[in-house]
Amino acid sequence: MNRISRRGLCLVLSAPSGAGKSSVSRALLEQETELRLSVSATTRAPRPGEQEGVHYFFRSPEQFEAMDAAGEMLESANVFGRRYGTPRSPVEQALAAGRDVLFDIDWQGHLLLRAALPGDVVSVFLLPPSLEELERRLHGRGQDSAEEIARRMRASRDEISHWADFDHVLVNHEFHDTVAQVQAILHAARSAGSRQPWLPAFIDTLLRP
Ligand code: GDP
Ligand code: ADP
Ligand code: 5GP
Repeated sequence: MNRISRRGLCLVLSAPSGAGKSSVSRALLEQETELRLSVSATTRAPRPGEQEGVHYFFRSPEQFEAMDAAGEMLESANVFGRRYGTPRSPVEQALAAGRDVLFDIDWQGHLLLRAALPGDVVSVFLLPPSLEELERRLHGRGQDSAEEIARRMRASRDEISHWADFDHVLVNHEFHDTVAQVQAILHAARSAGSRQPWLPAFIDTLLRP
């Protein structure tokens, strides 16, 4: 069986800010050693502890627009008044090498990525158990100002309204259950017949008289 010829898939995780995307992504990357994270570029300022090239590529608005204009972004969008985008070449290289890539991107990025990479995207939308709990989690994270939290809470209704664009929708009640459900989605997607190009040859050997 030739694993080299397998093309990787794109696992998109989206949610209103504070629903648990980053935490779920982190846990998933620890469990799934073959999964790579797509590191986005953004014009927002780093939060305490965020590292250049690990959490984001932090860019000025001018640098970001230059990258976008040069076609270096697979998709880009305005989120909460800032620019966010997916650098193209790491994703294309990983997929061609048969590696699966995890994306923590918003609903616009999801639609743009689907259009850019038809057939490669499997998507999950996370919902908070309630808007009160969402606000509690944003405050509990302790990383955004009161003004930024208010901005994200105002945006959350609009983000939630895009739930039906996604292949899978999960309510993030119990963190470990959510991580297990996302893992199950990833494993199921990997086993799709269309993602195993060596299958026809293997079937031939099975059925050979
Ligand atoms: P979080 O919501 O607390 O994870 O906050 P972030 O500042 O990390 O992300 C802000 C928003 O930008 C979220 O909706 C992300 O999904 C979105 N986002 C992050 N990276 C990208 C990207 O590469 N492309 C797009 N389109 N959106 C992104
Ligand atoms: P996002 O990346 O979607 O903005 P985070 O992963 O930063 O969200 O989660 C926001 C906060 O909520 C964090 O402090 C995180 O520890 C907490 N959190 C995430 N998932 C759960 C959960 N299932 N139950 C309780 N708290 C959670
Ligand atoms: P934060 O500023 O809290 O890190 O992210 C805010 C939002 O931006 C999140 O919903 C996150 O998913 C989204 N986001 C992060 N990177 C990208 C990206 O590259 N593209 C798009 N479209 N959205 C992104």
